[in-house]
Amino acid sequence: MTVESVELFRVRMPLRHPHRAAHGTEDERASILVHVVWNGSDGWGECPALARPTYTAEYHDGAWAVLRDHLVPELLARSALFAGGTVGHPMARGALSDAIWDAQLRGGDESLLGYLGLDAVPVPTTTVVSLADSVDTVLAAVTAAPGPVKVKVEPGHDVEPLRAIRDAFPDRSLAADANASYQPDRESHVRALEALDELGLRYLEQPHPGIVANGQLATRLRTPICLDEPIDSVDAASLALSVGALAVLNVKPARVGGVGAAVELVRWALTHEVDAFIGGMIETGVGRASAAALALLPGCTLPTDLGPSARYWDRDVTPAIIADAAGCLVLPTGPGLGSPPEPDRLAEVTVERLTFRR
Ligand code: MG
Repeated sequence: MTVESVELFRVRMPLRHPHRAAHGTEDERASILVHVVWNGSDGWGECPALARPTYTAEYHDGAWAVLRDHLVPELLARSALFAGGTVGHPMARGALSDAIWDAQLRGGDESLLGYLGLDAVPVPTTTVVSLADSVDTVLAAVTAAPGPVKVKVEPGHDVEPLRAIRDAFPDRSLAADANASYQPDRESHVRALEALDELGLRYLEQPHPGIVANGQLATRLRTPICLDEPIDSVDAASLALSVGALAVLNVKPARVGGVGAAVELVRWALTHEVDAFIGGMIETGVGRASAAALALLPGCTLPTDLGPSARYWDRDVTPAIIADAAGCLVLPTGPGLGSPPEPDRLAEVTVERLTFRR
């Protein structure tokens, strides 16, 4: 295999609506797009690390530096992907490996779905509702959503909005994501989680940080516990399952090191009878198309968090990913992991660009 060149694009795109979760609020999205030329074929990947290291340890400026100073030079020097050298940094690493995989698929004129043996059918979704100070704001967002919803919660913004939603929509598939914001030794936090347990949630995502405390919580709640932040590998998922902390697994391809690592985790979940779904990082169309395709894997037993381009952007960097009338995503067809960026839009949103050649 020969990677002939690598380009890094640092992009900034305004979000249509601020995204507020327990780890912070984003109203503009910075992301890194990676372009490789591999054996004459173009490939694209995305590193969607957040602006600050509040979700996982990786963050935008750090990922840019580790790509620029370590991962890309190592790749070009060795012609082998990640044999030794830099450890960690799964989002940065995943962007490079996805770009190479995209180029390989394009070189073979094959789509990701074709490679995985999946039919190109519309992808059912869950709408993620941001934190808001007003219960009415949260209720309005749920009312506007077409199907299952997952509501972001944090201590102080939890039982009241969720109870109001449950009262208004007794039969709606409803989940909550706490982004690790509840401390196991804080009595008020534990009481709030026990109150949420009364609401018939489909799952409660990452109430406590880490793994072990969530296993202990699971013994006291009926609601299935879903883990997100600490599960970056099959090894971490196996540990979580062994301590009873894992009924549902949120697989974010970027967080676990790219599309290949995500496929491995979803297959592990299927084998171990753990429910799984594909989670989103507010990627541009580059990262979102391949993530959405993985939601069709047989191990993904719950709808993905990913939404259409219009949920996030006035104009995506790729051709828009659209939703059909039922709210299902219509995937791009054609070879590769998804659609490459449109050059004029990429130029508009790029704030820094670096080129590396062998
Ligand atoms: Mg989450």
